[in-house]
Amino acid sequence: MQDVLIIGGGACGLTLACLLKQQNSKISVTVAEQLERVGKKLSTTGNGRCNITNLEIKQKNFHTRCPDKAHRVVSLFDYEKTKAFFSSIGVEFINEGSKVYPRSLQASSVVDALRFACGKFNVNTLTDCKVLKINSNSQGFTVLCDGDQNITAKCVVVATGGMAGGSKLGSNGDGYSFLKSFGHKIFERTPVIVQVKTENTLTKQLKGVKINCLVRVKNKVETVAIDNGEVLFCDYGLSGPPVLQLSRYCRAGTTLSLDILPEYSLKELKALLINRKTIMGNVSTNEFFAGLIHKKLGQTVIKSCDIPLNINVKSLTEKQLDLVAYRLKNFDFKVEGHTGFINAQATSGGADLEQFSNTLMSKIKPGLFAAGEVLDVDGDCGGYNLQWAWSSAAAVADGIIKYLNQGK
Ligand SMILES: Cc1cc2nc3c(=O)[nH]c(=O)nc-3n(C[C@H](O)[C@H](O)[C@H](O)COP(=O)(O)OP(=O)(O)OC[C@H]3O[C@@H](n4cnc5c(N)ncnc54)[C@H](O)[C@@H]3O)c2cc1C
Repeated sequence: MQDVLIIGGGACGLTLACLLKQQNSKISVTVAEQLERVGKKLSTTGNGRCNITNLEIKQKNFHTRCPDKAHRVVSLFDYEKTKAFFSSIGVEFINEGSKVYPRSLQASSVVDALRFACGKFNVNTLTDCKVLKINSNSQGFTVLCDGDQNITAKCVVVATGGMAGGSKLGSNGDGYSFLKSFGHKIFERTPVIVQVKTENTLTKQLKGVKINCLVRVKNKVETVAIDNGEVLFCDYGLSGPPVLQLSRYCRAGTTLSLDILPEYSLKELKALLINRKTIMGNVSTNEFFAGLIHKKLGQTVIKSCDIPLNINVKSLTEKQLDLVAYRLKNFDFKVEGHTGFINAQATSGGADLEQFSNTLMSKIKPGLFAAGEVLDVDGDCGGYNLQWAWSSAAAVADGIIKYLNQGK
């Protein structure tokens, strides 16, 4: 019988295996990974560079129905502890702003370091090993895997991840049914950090154009959330860092509103347009925005105000200039949905954290633990989801050591 069986050789599962062995090399640890290799999703993170954590880790960066417990877990294994752990397995950090990456800027090197450490610590890593069911008895757990293989263990950790990225990256949601079979509550799951589908007549025309702007999510007139950065126009709607960041607030019926020139107030913008009419009076509306905003965007704004593109700028009325100024500050797109789990980076919702102890042991079934994205915790874009994977792995490692010691 193994001391610990970790289901899922992803960010969280591999880290947990290393942390357990670092704390007590005598503990026997098996990692069961359904895919042909471990850490497949981790190796795709941060566009292949792995945004491993963030220098600024605050409670507000994590979204859950149980914020105090999530915050406690993250505070106990914070940035410094994360950095020290990765340094202990050979990964040094570098930051770009507050975002932190491995010094190599290669996500695959983080997977390699975790793999090498697991090898060094004699972690029994089984790939192509899909867990189908977890049974419990008075001795512990018997876990049924593909090919009628049974693994027995004193503790089992569900580190199967969420649903973001699709089944190619191992995200098929098995962990939810494992936990549900023990009576755990699973909150509804939705994709987050995902592109947003909007009314697309204009976004289609602007496909490929990128602009730096302020983005608001509005519910009727109320602003629900706000961010800024580079927005990308796509045939289905909008993408780019601020859109991904705000996607959790985007539901059908809300509006994504772009402020194309946030450095000007509406009043200042009106004055600017009146001045441009004077200095550019001899050009057509086609060229009205030359030197101010992206040409194609300018033309689309003009068209969206029902102003012809081939008239002379000097013929623009005050009312038309008011409308153009307003549109530049409120370039609005009705939200229709998102592009789904397959394109998402994280899962909102999952197993209710309330039903787990501070070390993430099930309050229903002692010896059963859960960690990582399978739990109802998701982070903002910027390294927070991986930080949750590292911190929750550390909480479980502490819990397992205590649990196994109690049994002695
Ligand atoms: C494209 C992309 C880019 C991302 N970039 C970043 C980033 O830069 N920074 C950041 O903080 N976050 C990023 N994330 C999010 C981050 O990758 C996840 O939050 C994190 O990997 C979750 O860790 P985990 O261990 O819980 O799950 P995973 O890393 O998904 O690992 C779960 C593992 O369990 C295995 N598994 C599932 N079911 C079974 C089963 N039945 N039997 C055996 N094995 C099973 C899976 O195959 C998988 O290998 C990104 C996500 C995606 C999709």
